[in-house]
Amino acid sequence: MNKDVCNCGLLACKEVNTKDQENRFTLLPLAYAENSLEPYISEKTVRFHYGKHLAAYIDNTNKLKAGTPFDDLPLHEIIVKSSGGLFNNAAQVFNHYFYFEAFHQTGLRMPAGKLLHLLEKNFGSFEQFKEKFTLSGMTLFGSGWVWLVQDGEKLEIMALPNAENPLKEHKYPLLTMDVWEHAYYLDTQNARAKYIENFWQVIDWKVIEKRMR
Ligand code: MN
Repeated sequence: MNKDVCNCGLLACKEVNTKDQENRFTLLPLAYAENSLEPYISEKTVRFHYGKHLAAYIDNTNKLKAGTPFDDLPLHEIIVKSSGGLFNNAAQVFNHYFYFEAFHQTGLRMPAGKLLHLLEKNFGSFEQFKEKFTLSGMTLFGSGWVWLVQDGEKLEIMALPNAENPLKEHKYPLLTMDVWEHAYYLDTQNARAKYIENFWQVIDWKVIEKRMR
């Protein structure tokens, strides 16, 4: 579909991988106001989640890659080739950019066109897809991420623990949901179900459509 998208699926791949003079990744400004996802995701959550958690993963990635053969690689290559602490932090950087990129308060509220067609083809209906993705998020024990991945006409849901990422398994991601407690604790405390309900309200399906290939 969109041939200009990087093979990691991140629309802002180029910007995310632009480094400063000391070869460090830097935190990109958020593409929307911190309060623009309210009432579904609070300004406070965005401020901490994007401004603090993501910033810390970037900082750790920079420290761990410095002086290693990974130093000049883009994030998606670090993810595929590294392990341990560097993998965990680099994957968390990618995962969070991928997550926040898909949100927009005034975005396209329903998938359309080829994306809708593939969701219906693979899951029966958009509603059935949402139910299955939601259930994966509810049943993922502890911390992790739920992903929608694409392989041609085939779409698949993957629930992965901690920082794990489909790129590591050479799968192409379209959508992700963070189910680490820090993603929702300030807003819905222990209620992950309420967080997931809110998550669906802020997805901009136009972004997911642009990531398709
Ligand atoms: Mn997170």
